[in-house]
Amino acid sequence: MDLMTKVVSLCKRRGFVFQSSEIYGGLKSFYDYGPLGVDLKKNIAKLWWDDMVDNRENVVGLDSSIIMHPRVWQSSGHVSNFSDPLVDCLNCKARFRGDKQPSLAPGSTVTWRSKASGDNNVLKTGQVGDHGYVCPECGCPHLSQPRDFSGLFKTFLGAVDPLSCINPSTPPSQAAIDHLLSQTVYLRPETAQAMFIQFLNVQKSMGLKVPFGIAQHGKSFRNEIVVEHFIFRSCEFEQMEMEFFCEPGTEKEWLSYWSENRLSWYQKYGNHRDNFRLRAHDSSELAHYSDACYDIEYQYPWGWDELEGVASRGDYDLHAHSQGSKAKLSYFDPKKTDPATGKVGWRYMPKVIEPAAGLTRAFLCFLLDAYSESRGVTSTGEEKNRFFLNLHPLLAPYKAAILPLSKDDGLMTLAHSLGKEWRKSGLKLTVDGYQSIGKRYAKHDEIGTPYAVTVDHQSLVDHHVTVRNRNTTHQVRVPFKQAQLMITESLERR
Ligand code: ATP
Repeated sequence: MDLMTKVVSLCKRRGFVFQSSEIYGGLKSFYDYGPLGVDLKKNIAKLWWDDMVDNRENVVGLDSSIIMHPRVWQSSGHVSNFSDPLVDCLNCKARFRGDKQPSLAPGSTVTWRSKASGDNNVLKTGQVGDHGYVCPECGCPHLSQPRDFSGLFKTFLGAVDPLSCINPSTPPSQAAIDHLLSQTVYLRPETAQAMFIQFLNVQKSMGLKVPFGIAQHGKSFRNEIVVEHFIFRSCEFEQMEMEFFCEPGTEKEWLSYWSENRLSWYQKYGNHRDNFRLRAHDSSELAHYSDACYDIEYQYPWGWDELEGVASRGDYDLHAHSQGSKAKLSYFDPKKTDPATGKVGWRYMPKVIEPAAGLTRAFLCFLLDAYSESRGVTSTGEEKNRFFLNLHPLLAPYKAAILPLSKDDGLMTLAHSLGKEWRKSGLKLTVDGYQSIGKRYAKHDEIGTPYAVTVDHQSLVDHHVTVRNRNTTHQVRVPFKQAQLMITESLERR
């Protein structure tokens, strides 16, 4: 099995991620995070929040509503521009995003198998058209023209469902369409815009001075043409974004600071530094509002692909919302000299650097990066392949599993009382008394529990436990207190 298949299967088997609505046949590209997935996601979000907000003087948090005034999305350009080029293959009917296909020279010769009725899969030859790509499914160059497909999810706000006013047997009247449009609101496709429209409230209420940042994490929704690679690209996902407002002229410096900073954050919690890289966008890739951008990329099983974007957005968004709302979204620095007038006191639109990360994409990337195999000896002396998730202890759902060797003779009671005591120091633990000890070790290796702590009959007498290291399988017998220390100290290392 390839790595991706193994990780997807592990996610379901061990309670990280389940298909949404599975008992009704599943809803494609929607996922539910199971008990261990909730913990892993929460741990990633916490490490991000610690690093971006709590450990800094000049970044503050926000938790905005998912549905905002529709004019937010008109001003930001999402209503008119947030679309992807949808292309249909005229041969196999596959539907895909034109901008994500590898480019081929127009006029170059390609071959594909015809799906036309009567053709019986016959091999055909033809030339790549002006599109500069072919169908990713069958290789055919005969494609529809790209059509703009809006990624915005819409819903309706109001006491009367506007769809109920439309009679399915007659074409809707203009009045019915206008009514429908007037009640249309959008599920946010990114968390970022709230930080721009609340810029003044946050800056004033907190007395912030430029440079400063506003961060939030939460759900975003995109009606993607192609959902792919499990949770890598889905229609409902979570983002962790920060808008960093800085003085005009300093944006290059801050872009370089934030892109390096974010890269090293991933490298700190991942295992293989070389699987992460920064890639500068060339000018043809830049969004219309951006003057420079780096992608933090990860080497996924299908190749290098995006994990996070760090973009220099200029003052596009503050300008757009100032114009759209008539609010004065600028900043006044009483001490700085205005370069235009030469007078002290400068009012300007701050420039913005945006590190925009996908929480659920980071979830996938940390699982892929942690998946490890080694040759090991089972408790019965048999040599076989061993799987373990080499998750950083701060990411691991459980920091330790306490495993009583037997459910009787007071071992279960002792295990629970150790668990109760150790939880007081903030450790997330589980007491696991079922199955053979070998199966329990294997299960906790697979879910990334850094330590397995075995309680045996001797523990009742000498107050020692055996601590087994997930990665090395090395075991040491130590007093209760020392075992607790080993676990807490592992959270401070690295
Ligand atoms: P992509 O090129 O992969 O479509 P993007 O450039 O549109 O991503 P941004 O708008 O910059 O992405 O969003 C910031 C981050 O949010 C991305 O780097 C990614 O981690 C995450 N993200 C974006 N779209 C999705 C999605 N459909 N599913 C999961 N995560 C997503």
